[in-house]
Amino acid sequence: MCKDVRVRFAPSPTGYLHVGGARTALFNYLFARHNDGSFILRIEDTDRERSDVELVNAILDGLNWLGLEYDEGPVVGGNYGPYFQSERKGIYSKYIEILKEKGSLYPCFCTPEELAKRREECQKRGKPYRYDRRCRQLSKVEIERRMREGIPYALRILTPDDGETAFDDMIRGRVSFKNSELDDPIVVRSDGSPTYNFCVVVDDHLMEITHVIRGEDHLSNTPKQILVYNALGWEVPLFAHVPLILGPDRKRLSKRHGATSISAYRDDGYLPCAMFNFLSLLGWSAGEDREIMSKDEIIERFSIEGISRSPAIFDVDKLKWMNGHYIREMDENEFVVLAERQLINNGVDLDSWKEREGEQWVKRVILIEKEKMKRMTDIFYLTEFFFNDELEYEARGVKKHLSKPESKLMLQKVLDGLEGLDERAFYPADEGGALDILEDVVRGVAESEGVSAGKVIHPVRVAISGRTSGPGLFEMMYLLGKKRCVERINVALDRFFT
Ligand code: GLU
Repeated sequence: MCKDVRVRFAPSPTGYLHVGGARTALFNYLFARHNDGSFILRIEDTDRERSDVELVNAILDGLNWLGLEYDEGPVVGGNYGPYFQSERKGIYSKYIEILKEKGSLYPCFCTPEELAKRREECQKRGKPYRYDRRCRQLSKVEIERRMREGIPYALRILTPDDGETAFDDMIRGRVSFKNSELDDPIVVRSDGSPTYNFCVVVDDHLMEITHVIRGEDHLSNTPKQILVYNALGWEVPLFAHVPLILGPDRKRLSKRHGATSISAYRDDGYLPCAMFNFLSLLGWSAGEDREIMSKDEIIERFSIEGISRSPAIFDVDKLKWMNGHYIREMDENEFVVLAERQLINNGVDLDSWKEREGEQWVKRVILIEKEKMKRMTDIFYLTEFFFNDELEYEARGVKKHLSKPESKLMLQKVLDGLEGLDERAFYPADEGGALDILEDVVRGVAESEGVSAGKVIHPVRVAISGRTSGPGLFEMMYLLGKKRCVERINVALDRFFT
């Protein structure tokens, strides 16, 4: 590529960073990094009423969390600023004047209400709506009269009646629109404010954007923008319109399908590296079966050619699976830091547990279900019974394993066995040896009573954890310690068998 690649993500801060926006940002980022180019963030906050500082911050946080560092934009600055459209008004005015001087614009006195009505009528008749260009027919005298009377007007670009406006989309190939079917794009609204289709062209040109990579929902804006480029005599950048993201029902991804904001996934315990990997595969593939790829690998393999023409399906189960993979791969210490934060947020007083049982014990408990976790938020449920002696018993488990007289006998026998053990069977004794001792006690009861091991293991598990599933029983007993195991079995005996 001869020109330095410059791409941008241009969100309107009218909502939080959602999955679709994040995917657009990511593809721009990947394209920039792959080509040693620049990734620019521009905030399109012309819609002041709906824009909000808090939402701008949420977008910055979302990008930061995903690791999409931008080279130019808010906070970091750059040579092509300002990077907020609201700060570029003077620039837009300058180019509006230039267009006026060139004779590229004409006033349109149709009110938004009239236009809405005509649109509605068209829709009723099942016809596609486009502006009927009626104000183009107004005589000079009539225009001057209306202006004198102070009738508000918008400014539209004079579009050729014939021919077509076409471009070669990097994903979709040749895309063309008949000029006769295009709206004459509005450059300035009747309240004097410049429109998106105009500002985006001025900004992309002045910021020297080489490739516009954005959602397919913008496809119909592109010919209008090309008309603005042509009117200003500017070179048109290359476009790549990325297919939409759909839910599993093949309808456009929306709240109905679950969370759509990136921050919701962060708060739900997804890791940024998993989200990065998952989003990169929403519409793009490296052309091989591999799905798990590091950030560097994705950057290395990324290309526009690898973007599919068909919509991407957002499959949250796949995201969960991927997240589980990254949790398993995560360095233990890093995992412990995140897991501790989750537990503390859930009200676990980790400091007092560290004091009581030692830091190593806390770490050991936290790591116990790492392999099984799908989300960081799972840690609380999975380890809660270590940090809370008031167990909540699963009704199903109680019914199945703590209701029969024979279970009572098994619990009593295990209790006897445990009481006879000294501390060598429990944390922090040598784990291998300790687990063997505990296993001997439990299996010994099964043997001496002539029952299968399950008849002992299940009641003990429910008695000491309240659950029918969880970590290995002996490991759990080892970590809970003698006193707590004995206490919990006694509580279960009292509670369920008298
Ligand atoms: N501000 C527009 C949006 O948030 C994006 C503009 C563009 O990418 O051209 O949809």
